[in-house]
Amino acid sequence: MNIDVAALRSGQRRTLARAITLIESTAHRAQAEALLAQLGPAPESSLRIGLSGPPGVGKSTLIEALGLHAIDQGHKVAVLAIDPSSVQSGGAILGDKTRMPLLSTHPRAFIRPSPAGDTLGGVARRSFEALRLCEAAGYDLIIVETVGVGQSEIAVSQMSDIFVLLVQAASGDDLQGIKRGIMELADLLVINKADGELQHSAQRSLADCKAALPFLPARREYWHTRACAVSALERQGLDTLWQHLMDLRRVLGDSGRLTHERAEQSIAWMQREATELLHVALREHHSALQMQLEHEVREQRITPAE
Ligand code: GDP
Repeated sequence: MNIDVAALRSGQRRTLARAITLIESTAHRAQAEALLAQLGPAPESSLRIGLSGPPGVGKSTLIEALGLHAIDQGHKVAVLAIDPSSVQSGGAILGDKTRMPLLSTHPRAFIRPSPAGDTLGGVARRSFEALRLCEAAGYDLIIVETVGVGQSEIAVSQMSDIFVLLVQAASGDDLQGIKRGIMELADLLVINKADGELQHSAQRSLADCKAALPFLPARREYWHTRACAVSALERQGLDTLWQHLMDLRRVLGDSGRLTHERAEQSIAWMQREATELLHVALREHHSALQMQLEHEVREQRITPAE
């Protein structure tokens, strides 16, 4: 599979789609790595946003609204969807074109689901490479979406400059499906469905969040997690959300923080890559040794640590 790097750089969508297929394929790894090496350093002008939230919270509705808003501001938007459930089910559910009908047909947008992989690590790791390809093709706002099931948020937060957690106002006091550990990853907490019957509880949840946030450990010393309420469906509150994103973007741009954070992210991805390759090597080349050791541990002849 030959990829024309000049065509990729000029933003040709078909070439970008083929390039992503190449990096996702396990059969052409050497070629994929050669392509990635040709991309050079990532552009500092791009913004990588990770977005996570439980199923049904309104992720695709918000991405459609926010993506169109960003395009109005002159950006080119790429959406990469990581679906951890596809690891089990074998299918990529997210990124289906019907989920974002306007954005998926917009000439300044590119939407791509991540396929099923053997492991979540495997899926997410190719998404990081896909993100780099989108940047090379001139997309300057990359949204990486994942369903919140724990592990995947960590992977996504490691490939984004800004991590947004989407939650829904609940009828009770608690925010639905939000775990404290995940909340601590977020730069921005967005309460969706602040409309109709949920309007009131959304505002109350927002007030609760704002009260609780100062007591959460800060993810970054120079940024306090913010919260806002939106209605993705009615496109309310998007200006405020966008303003928060741009504020953090500005703060990140100061004193080389973005450069530093991205370097740290690249190192985290290198470590993931190494771990994954070691797993594969162990499975493929040392399965006899592994089976023997498993047997000895099972029989309690040696300890797991030994
Ligand atoms: P996802 O699974 O997180 O991607 O959620 P979707 O974007 O598919 O939305 C799930 C359901 O919630 C759909 O029926 C949407 O129409 C609805 N929804 C999304 N955003 C809003 C909102 O702001 N207000 C209301 N009332 N419904 C919404």
